[in-house]
Amino acid sequence: MTNDLILVLNCGSSSLKGALIDNKTGGLILSCLAEKLTTPEAYITFKYFDNADIRPVSRRSWFVDRKDGDKHEVSLSDRHDHTGAVEALLEELRAHDLQDMVRAIGHRVVHGGEKYSGSVVIDDKVMAVLEECIPLAPLHNPANLTGIRAAQSIFPGLINVGVFDTAFHQTMPEHAYTYAVPQELYQKYGFRRYGFHGTSFRYVAPVAAEIIGKDINDCSLVIAHLGNGASVCAVKNGESQDTSMGVTPLEGLVMGTRSGDLDPSTCSFLADNAGMDVKAVTDMLNKKSGLLGISGLSNDCRTIQEAAAEGHAGAKLALEVMTYRLAKYIAAMAVATNGIDALVFTGGIGENSDVVRSKTVNYLGFLGLTIDEEANKATRFGASGIISQKGREPAVVVVPTNEERMIAMDTGRLAGL
Ligand code: ADP
Repeated sequence: MTNDLILVLNCGSSSLKGALIDNKTGGLILSCLAEKLTTPEAYITFKYFDNADIRPVSRRSWFVDRKDGDKHEVSLSDRHDHTGAVEALLEELRAHDLQDMVRAIGHRVVHGGEKYSGSVVIDDKVMAVLEECIPLAPLHNPANLTGIRAAQSIFPGLINVGVFDTAFHQTMPEHAYTYAVPQELYQKYGFRRYGFHGTSFRYVAPVAAEIIGKDINDCSLVIAHLGNGASVCAVKNGESQDTSMGVTPLEGLVMGTRSGDLDPSTCSFLADNAGMDVKAVTDMLNKKSGLLGISGLSNDCRTIQEAAAEGHAGAKLALEVMTYRLAKYIAAMAVATNGIDALVFTGGIGENSDVVRSKTVNYLGFLGLTIDEEANKATRFGASGIISQKGREPAVVVVPTNEERMIAMDTGRLAGL
């Protein structure tokens, strides 16, 4: 008997991330990353992981020719679009006799608007809705659609499933998602708060509940997903009650290059005083702000931490502004959950930065949150566990996220595997 494999695709405007996941075990077999798509320098990198329980259709090459962590790169200069990248991926699968084991494809889709509160099998109707959602995510949804079309043409006959970043937050109550603007803007253009990182929050929440020995259906969590993009989510009894991102992923926390919350008069202030138009301001707030903007050094938290430790004034300030904003938001989310059983850290920064965790929790003693510095330092690089002081509640927990696995689980379920 062979394994059922799920291909997970996550397309950006010039990139494609892929993961091949075993449906039964959730194990990662192969990951790939295509970069610089749409330029002649495009290439794709494949990386293999140790999964000795995978049984290919024929035993030609799979077990003998690769080791855990093996990596290789293929140029896409002669086919530098998303379809070319998916084609190269199919060739890679063929070279290892894995192509016939792929049973379904799961796509990360950024914006599902108000239409989807869960994952769906993609058909023409769904594609039309995703087109309709383009104004809500003009940078992301077109790339996601391109990826879906590429998968449909290169893997004809396979079920494609859409898993939305926004879906988990569709349980937010009206008072949490409504902007205080004329409601005609909501009715006509869907201008409301949606939230993102939903797939990560949905994966992390039950794992965290299990770690603290609570039933996810009777549990209040505040989860901080801290990567290049970052948001916090209030999860009560397994459902999102509020989150820090809004109609776009710019609202909320201080991120790598994004500003997060600002005075809504920012645009007019900068137009009047700096001669910037809407496009220039939007670009600056998305790409040149956050840790990068404050530090003048880097968007990368590790670099910022190292520079701050060496006394770099900009990096020190960036770290302070970021962790203070984060702490404020966590406290605000505790309003949405009406008290918390656990604060959960995830994402590249949340999983690895003992510094950010420690600084943030130190602001939140008034909520009863504590940190055990030894556990905090020990729980990094893929480890999960409790980092608050023994016997103290609420707990502070670290849970490595796995969005690909969540997408694969939904895809397997909807494909009837
Ligand atoms: P993305 O949102 O692109 O998926 P990740 O979740 O991988 O991003 O997070 C990337 C961030 O995690 C970067 O800012 C990086 O510096 C940070 N990070 C990774 N490892 C560490 C570490 N050991 N200490 C501090 N920050 C880290």
